[in-house]
Amino acid sequence: MKEVKENIIAGSAIQTFDFFIQWHLTERCNLRCRHCYQDRKMPPEMSTDEVLREIDGATAMFEAWESEQNIRVSPSIHFTGGEPLLYPGFWDVLRHARQAGCGVAVMTNGCFVTDEDARRFRDLGVFEVQVSLEGPESHHDSIRGRGSFKAVLEGVERLSKAGINVSANVTLSRINSPFVGETVKIARDSGYTGIGFSRLVPCGSGENLLECLLSRDEIRHVYEEIYSLNSPDFEVVSGDPLAVMVRGDVQPPGCELTLSGCSAGFSGVTISCDGTVMPCRRIGVSVGNLRRKSLRQIWATSKTLWKLRNRASYKGKCGECDLWPSCRGCRAVAYAHSRAHGRADLFADDPQCWRIAGGEGVTRG
Ligand code: SF4
Ligand code: SF4
Repeated sequence: MKEVKENIIAGSAIQTFDFFIQWHLTERCNLRCRHCYQDRKMPPEMSTDEVLREIDGATAMFEAWESEQNIRVSPSIHFTGGEPLLYPGFWDVLRHARQAGCGVAVMTNGCFVTDEDARRFRDLGVFEVQVSLEGPESHHDSIRGRGSFKAVLEGVERLSKAGINVSANVTLSRINSPFVGETVKIARDSGYTGIGFSRLVPCGSGENLLECLLSRDEIRHVYEEIYSLNSPDFEVVSGDPLAVMVRGDVQPPGCELTLSGCSAGFSGVTISCDGTVMPCRRIGVSVGNLRRKSLRQIWATSKTLWKLRNRASYKGKCGECDLWPSCRGCRAVAYAHSRAHGRADLFADDPQCWRIAGGEGVTRG
């Protein structure tokens, strides 16, 4: 295969490049969450041997970046599913990624975690286990299924007893946004070590939840509340690009380095269970498949990834915005929302950005 040597790292003036892979090992799952991005198709999963080989391929890519770009790469792989514990080679994959020098995190629904699993996570040096929490019991169960709240908290207790960092992830919508404070309290009292909030993306099963998207004003107020609850002993955060406007950690005016904001095309990539590579799982657009091309080739040559890196591709306000280097909006929300309105466009404005007035944004208060 042709070797690829372009300058492929966005913002290469930085000394350490944090790069993550969100790796969906399986689509199998014991739950049927209302907002799930899955479309319930079950593509042919990569075997354990294939996954191990692709971890080696990713590691070789990181090493090549380091030697060719004179930069230190800090790679992490976040294994998820479906429910990743249902993948037959789960523990072999985790062990291999750790031996390859990658930071490893696991995103699970928490229902199956045993004491033995918790000890294995600790012994393998898994730096974080993320267990989703949607709000108080009735709200959590209404989104994730009856009985799941109790099962989740039992799993969290086991992980916490083993000394694992356990973060909660909450998908924000009109269903649970009134309960942010209560949800943070539940997480604090249940053994979680921090909590993160992300936005509902109306795709997959979540397409039916378009009406549950928070309006621009609502999302701003929710993020203000979230950051008022953050404290040194319990992190309450959001990785949402829009949160930069509340946190205030934007790049200085005139700085065009893309060091933060939406990671799609810049600092992370998603691999699905059949080897399909996507800019982000929530975007759901294929940029190649590992069964046909190496991850390095895909990252360096995909037209879609290069368009994501180019400000000129972005339409409307996002393309002109002075916060583009530190934000770019959530491309997944922009894509899903524009598609729901019959004009699918990965580079449309983020409809929930409160800096944008009018247009097709989510404005109901
Ligand atoms: S206009 Fe786009 S880039 Fe600017 S703050 Fe809003 S979502 Fe972010
Ligand atoms: S598209 Fe949205 S969910 Fe995906 S990386 Fe960007 S901000 Fe995060």
